Amino acid sequence: MRKQPILVTGGAGYIGSHVVRQLGEAGHQVIVLDNLSTGFRASVLYGNLMIGDTGDRAFVTQLLREHDIESVLHFAAHIVVPESVSDPLKYYGNNTCNTRELLAACADAGVKHFIFSSTAAVYGIPPDMECAEDSPLAPINPYGRSKLMSEWMLQDLAAASNLRYGVLRYFNVAGADPGGRIGQSTPKATHLIKVACEATLGKRSHIDVFGTDYPTPDGTCIRDYIHIEDLARAHLLALEHLHNGGESFTANCGYGHGYSVREVLDKVQEVSGVKLDIREAPRRAGDPPALIAKAERIRALLGWTPQYNQLDTIVGHALTWERRL
Ligand code: UDP
Repeated sequence: MRKQPILVTGGAGYIGSHVVRQLGEAGHQVIVLDNLSTGFRASVLYGNLMIGDTGDRAFVTQLLREHDIESVLHFAAHIVVPESVSDPLKYYGNNTCNTRELLAACADAGVKHFIFSSTAAVYGIPPDMECAEDSPLAPINPYGRSKLMSEWMLQDLAAASNLRYGVLRYFNVAGADPGGRIGQSTPKATHLIKVACEATLGKRSHIDVFGTDYPTPDGTCIRDYIHIEDLARAHLLALEHLHNGGESFTANCGYGHGYSVREVLDKVQEVSGVKLDIREAPRRAGDPPALIAKAERIRALLGWTPQYNQLDTIVGHALTWERRL
């Protein structure tokens, strides 16, 4: 186990906090950098929380130097596709420009390993619904473009320095800590499983299905939903890979099978025992019809084996957390 702490940006957010918890449980020292714009102090179960911006290059450089940090995991970002369509500069500012400043700080401080939270949105509309890591990169919304630009900056910096990186392209992350300690707490959430769980508890009057005329078997969008706990585990394996001298890599994080919006809502009703008021609504801006991971690389390269790859489990854990909130 390394003595130097690991810096986790956005570690008070949904995905970051689950990774921080697993890092802490594995005995790593952790420093969380979060501006608490969407994260929660209470979600940080391990390490020291520093309040600040990833785009504050001087502050981050000092933090990296002071703690002799060699490894950075970068989660801090905006993540809502339709919002990226209506407010693109917010996304290019926080996701792209701030990542540029963070990378500059990492270069200044001699950081060796960098793990970047990317997204399936970099693929755009895959011709056969499935995306491999070498599929064409053609994002159709500013969120995907803001993340793809960061991937490119990271690759270029690595080519010009000693930095090695792991880019993890997340498909649709859902669920909560199986131990029930943390979960997705975002107010005004927009992600399907979270929204549906809120609706089962009466926190919302109904749920909209955005688009029923997509070229999919039931006309609604298909996504590959991955349990947060399995996703978080992938980060620890990615870090271990880099710490053991492994090469830089890019890997999809998904299970390789998709569910339509209607199938997800059926499952949420089945698991919760609550009948939802489901309404058909127009398509939402920026949504590709289907995104399913080709997910062999992460298994082969990192030895990642999912433990929670059942939609029932994902929905069950999300519901348990939602009741607790
Ligand atoms: N969706 C929906 N109703 C909702 C929220 C989402 O029909 O209240 C759909 C959305 O249009 C997309 C899918 O569910 O087709 C997944 O969307 P989400 O926002 O969960 O994740 P994204 O794929 O945009 O990252």
